[in-house]
Amino acid sequence: MAEIVVLGAGLGGTLMAFELGDQLRPGDRVTLIGQSEAYQFVPSNPWVAIGWRKRKDIEVHLAAVTKRKNIRLCTEGARAVHPVEKSVELETGERVPYDYLVIATGPDLAFDEIVGLGPDAHTQSICQTSHAEKAHAAFERFCAQPGPLIVGAVQGASCFGPAYEFAFILDTELRRRKLRDRVPMTFVTAEPYIGHLGLDGVGDTKGLLESEFRQRHIKWVTNARVTNVASDNMSVEEIAADGAVLATHQLALGHAMMLPAFRGVSAMRGIEGLVNPRGFVVVDKYLRYPVFPEIFAVGVCVAIRPTGPTPVLVGVPKTGFMIESMVTAVAHNIGALLRDKLVHARATWNAVCLADFGDSGVAFVAQPQIPPRNVNWAAKGAWVHLAKVAFEKYFLRKIRTGESEPFYERFVLNRLDIQKLKQPEMDPVPHA
Ligand code: FAD
Repeated sequence: MAEIVVLGAGLGGTLMAFELGDQLRPGDRVTLIGQSEAYQFVPSNPWVAIGWRKRKDIEVHLAAVTKRKNIRLCTEGARAVHPVEKSVELETGERVPYDYLVIATGPDLAFDEIVGLGPDAHTQSICQTSHAEKAHAAFERFCAQPGPLIVGAVQGASCFGPAYEFAFILDTELRRRKLRDRVPMTFVTAEPYIGHLGLDGVGDTKGLLESEFRQRHIKWVTNARVTNVASDNMSVEEIAADGAVLATHQLALGHAMMLPAFRGVSAMRGIEGLVNPRGFVVVDKYLRYPVFPEIFAVGVCVAIRPTGPTPVLVGVPKTGFMIESMVTAVAHNIGALLRDKLVHARATWNAVCLADFGDSGVAFVAQPQIPPRNVNWAAKGAWVHLAKVAFEKYFLRKIRTGESEPFYERFVLNRLDIQKLKQPEMDPVPHA
């Protein structure tokens, strides 16, 4: 009998706990450790931040589904991981022992790295649903007294798609309210060019997104380093290829949403070797920590190198489908280890995304995520907005029913030749 602990009950961790179900032997047990009983669908946060969704619309309570799936759910949160003694210490002091641990703790949001950044200071956030609710209240106040609007992602950020989505959604909503003519908009980003997305672009995202900004009269600053945010002003340096300051901008602000840099959560920080200096978990190609091979990691908490050098630090996003591919690989690898077999499954890390603009959107597929690619496709259309709404409903249903990958999803992905696992290698590594 084996104890498998999944730490973090967000997108990656919840699917991980479900998907492990197919891999267990009789008597094996899964424990899912989260910080609350509620699962929130993070990709819908931009809609919460302008009032198109309420928290209850995008939330699933996990107690019923985990009970049905025979998963032990702990909602106290973890204080620390003890890899040598193979246990997770909960905030209550209780220690949960494991034979296999999957870390899925997502990001810690590094607002404190820039003066004035974050929902406790002068910019809003959509990273958590509670932040998005706060951003919505601020947006309503802003609409009563419109002014300049700034959206973007700061230096060191790795998640750019939601910033573009939010800029376009705000534009759509302001036009509907007939306020857009009173709101000058600027997009501020660490990316070297519009549409880089931390992936060095996908298809022609540069052309598509620049064109969309021009159509909607949204100005932009790229290679941006935000140095300070005050209640009515953002200080931004524009950085040249050699690292010199090319220009400085003082941007007036009435409302702003800036995505922060991410780092590993406090429970993971400082565990020597397990995490890199930013607190992200170091894994091998099987998503396993080489020194303690019973530890795996999936999702945003995994360390990935940037696609290449850029004037301002730009991280690589870990998008939903990429994370699902990590989950499938880890489930297969733990299943193999439980049967004294070798780990063999490798995630494709393919990026398949729908970026919503409120009235249209851009879809892209990057296989693999780092160029050059076998598939490098992006397209724009009103269908993307509808597809994103449908995907939200579909995904929330998956969480409610506890199904990570229903057979019809597998069928569609196979037909589109979008795989979660790479072809097996000829030389699987020994697991000892
Ligand atoms: P999370 O979903 O953040 O889950 C981490 C979980 O770990 C959280 O529930 C947290 O409470 C828990 N945790 C943290 N510390 C502890 C602890 N000490 N003890 C116990 N639990 C802990 N990707 C797409 O492909 N498409 C999109 O449209 C999309 N939209 C996005 C929109 C936004 C605003 C953001 C921020 C990201 C978006 N992403 C999108 C990227 C990605 O899919 C999400 O960030 C996704 O939620 C990441 O999954 P995760 O499991 O790594 O982290």
